[in-house]
Amino acid sequence: MAGVTRAAKTATETNGDAQWTSEELSEVRSRLLGEIEELNAEVARAESQIASGDISDSAGDDQADAGAKTYEREREIALTLNARDLIAQNERAIARIDAGTYGVCESCHKPIGKERLQAFPRATLCVSCKQREERR
Ligand SMILES: [Zn+2]
Repeated sequence: MAGVTRAAKTATETNGDAQWTSEELSEVRSRLLGEIEELNAEVARAESQIASGDISDSAGDDQADAGAKTYEREREIALTLNARDLIAQNERAIARIDAGTYGVCESCHKPIGKERLQAFPRATLCVSCKQREERR
């Protein structure tokens, strides 16, 4: 009895590049979905901030105030763009999970490695392809 559990444990520890189990995939999937929800909330918050900034902007603020508001607004816009980008990446990862291609490097088609994906669930490239891309 005890031997069975030990064997199972060793298998998961040594197979870093192994196939994902459906439990693991659904775990990653729900993690990505949860992030999308958070990011959507973030975008909605930032957008309402941007919108309300538009209304109060012309109400006779002094220069410094207007400058701070512009800065704030630009920051919110950058944040929104960034969040949207992350949402797209998460959706892409989920699509890959659904298509059964999750965990495969888009460039060399080798396994990305579970460890890397558990740290960066959105990764679409293995470490060496990623490094090559960054050097370009
Ligand atoms: Zn690769």
